[in-house]
Amino acid sequence: MAKYDVDLFVIGGGSAGVRLSRMAAGFGASVMLAESGRLGGTCVNVGCVPKKLLVYGSAFREEVEDMAGFGWTVEGMKHDWSKLFANKDEEIGRLNGIYERMLVGAGVQLVRGRASVTGPHSVEINGKVVTAERIAVCTGGAPRRPSIPGAELAITSDEAFTLKACPKRVLVVGGGYIGLEFAGIFQGYGAEVTLMHRGGHVLRGFDQALREHIEVELRRKGIEVRTETEVVSIKKTDTGLAVEISGSKMLSDDLVLEACNEVCEYDVVMFAVGRVPATSGMGLAEIGVKMDRRGQIEVNGEYETSVPSIYAMGDIIDYPRLTPVALAQGMYLARKLYGPGSAAVRYDNVATAVFSQPNIGTVGLTEREALEKCYVVDVYESSFRGMKLTMTERKERTWMKILVDGETDKVLGMHMIGPDAGEIIQGFAVAMTCGVTKTQLDATIGIHPTSAEEFVTMRTRARRIER
Ligand code: NDP
Repeated sequence: MAKYDVDLFVIGGGSAGVRLSRMAAGFGASVMLAESGRLGGTCVNVGCVPKKLLVYGSAFREEVEDMAGFGWTVEGMKHDWSKLFANKDEEIGRLNGIYERMLVGAGVQLVRGRASVTGPHSVEINGKVVTAERIAVCTGGAPRRPSIPGAELAITSDEAFTLKACPKRVLVVGGGYIGLEFAGIFQGYGAEVTLMHRGGHVLRGFDQALREHIEVELRRKGIEVRTETEVVSIKKTDTGLAVEISGSKMLSDDLVLEACNEVCEYDVVMFAVGRVPATSGMGLAEIGVKMDRRGQIEVNGEYETSVPSIYAMGDIIDYPRLTPVALAQGMYLARKLYGPGSAAVRYDNVATAVFSQPNIGTVGLTEREALEKCYVVDVYESSFRGMKLTMTERKERTWMKILVDGETDKVLGMHMIGPDAGEIIQGFAVAMTCGVTKTQLDATIGIHPTSAEEFVTMRTRARRIER
């Protein structure tokens, strides 16, 4: 008789959990997966998928404006928010179904309910105890709310996906991925949007020039970008939400800032100030699984926690919180534990896109990181007006940057702001994973006329920086 009920018990049916379960079952392991909500996790239900659908929809307004330059006249354009949201929900429902069929088809036993860990090899779910040789915690995270008076009056991205109508005046707090993406979404559907960030420039951790350029483009779109500013409190009024703000205010386009404390009114305030790992209240700390004070689980290079039979992956561990990273971790563990083995997941050139408008794509090092790693860094930079816009009123500029090790010629980082930046950077991420050099980029024949060809035609160095 088997020592345990199952080989692997997976808690959480998001990107990491589903991929791990499905592959482990495919390799012959007996797998049980517990999920209390909808399958697919943050990405499918309240993240990447619905966000991207909303981004697509919000971009049409500009497209229609741009059509005039090409001779089109569009009359009577209207937007139906409830239709958009109904179609989005239907698509998510379809994906939930696909996930369920994939899991069941692979032989995974799916249990609906909240699981808690009761020992190194036991889990309790729906009042029953299940024993497992190994347990994988893949519970993801949830949006964080700052502890200020009135924070409960604001929404987070979770609630943004269920709004009944497009608000007229929106304050988005947080200059990270979600903040920039939702500022663009609301603006595209016609809201007046303020994007508020507590630091000097949005997107901390990204290339400094990229951070500055995206702010210029967001402002050009009509989004009020306020930096070095924080929300102090929120109060409900008869006409909206009164938000007490402390920080600085821009006096002119050339960034003259003046200290200010003021109260502004909005219809919706959305916090996009980071996410917290969903690891509390499930018995992990009680059985000795080590976590930091934010609830992030400590793992070794093989995603093993301080309790050797318990693994953790996805948004609850200290790696980039991105769906493809979670998928890679799930695949790695399934192959390692039950399959032919696998090389470790590489985190050195994880490409990423921020689906702001314009779009951002980036891979590799920022200029600052490049200079920390190399003695000589060559910087190639380009900014141009995309061909599609030349017959329109739009002044938006596409911006690109390549960072090269001045001693070895190896490409260290590639960054872009402009239409389809994520699509374009994905291909260059492959090249960077293969160790592409600047000479090899230069030897590549471009595809004309595209924006992407600029990455293989930037021959003149903008500057050389030395440590
Ligand atoms: P981020 O960590 O990206 O950004 C959080 C932002 O909120 C930062 O600008 C941060 O400022 C600010 N902030 C934090 N605390 C406060 C506070 N108390 N008051 C005011 N501002 C505050 O988090 P997000 O919520 O945007 O996204 C979470 C993660 O989800 C991302 O890091 C990313 O890994 C993932 N994601 C990926 C997407 C994609 O791939 N396209 C899309 C959406 C999310 P500061 O910089 O000063 O700390």
